[in-house]
Amino acid sequence: MRRLFVAGNWKMNTNLASGKELAKGVAAEAQRLGDAIDIAVCPPFVYLSNVKAELAGSKVQLGAQNTWFAAPGAFTGETAVEMLKDIGCSWVILGHSERRQLLGEKDELINKKIAAATSEDLGVIFCVGELLEDRQAGRTETVLETQLSGGLANLDAAVLGQIVIAYEPVWAIGTGVTATPEQAEGAHAFIRGWLTKQYGAKVADSVRILYGGSVKADNAEALMSLPNVDGALVGGASLTTAQFAPILQAA
Ligand code: PGA
Repeated sequence: MRRLFVAGNWKMNTNLASGKELAKGVAAEAQRLGDAIDIAVCPPFVYLSNVKAELAGSKVQLGAQNTWFAAPGAFTGETAVEMLKDIGCSWVILGHSERRQLLGEKDELINKKIAAATSEDLGVIFCVGELLEDRQAGRTETVLETQLSGGLANLDAAVLGQIVIAYEPVWAIGTGVTATPEQAEGAHAFIRGWLTKQYGAKVADSVRILYGGSVKADNAEALMSLPNVDGALVGGASLTTAQFAPILQAA
């Protein structure tokens, strides 16, 4: 069975003090919940080490929000996979719609980053999702297929063991509009079907597919109890323990 996974994407939020406080709060909640689910927090780069220190002795895993694909060297302003591993990251978020839209990241670049991360045993939370106009035009599945086949190009099935897919409809991110359970399950089932075609049922059944996009305490349980939803990638509601803890409890 797939183990539920809830990850908090802090995006460009918190400061040093509030980030440490939040990490402490999540660690305490994880301790209370025992070993029932996997939990990760993904703070901004500059606070990764500080947050890691707060998580000492906790099962809460650390994730970064980006990486570069080349080995350490002359890449001003970038961060290598080796560096993320070095400071204790277990995960990296790649393909997030904010980076696709605001920074122009294309499937080809995302693919290089996924290949680099997985080759160094860094877990990847690979985000895919359609724009509102895509959904309205009936293009959701075409968009998902393009992003999946582009992002996972030339990666063999064994690598899928290190990848978690996050379905994040762009129209639901930070908007307060959550996908309905039918919309979420429909997209997740499509993604699993695509994985089955590419890699076979055994691999496809083992890959976790998270839902992301305005996950809150009051919708988390309905979403995460769907057959093909294996957890959540949470943005806004991961920024306070008061909002994040009930989502962890729902899982
Ligand atoms: P949100 O963000 O929960 O604030 O909608 C989710 C995400 O972008 O990962």
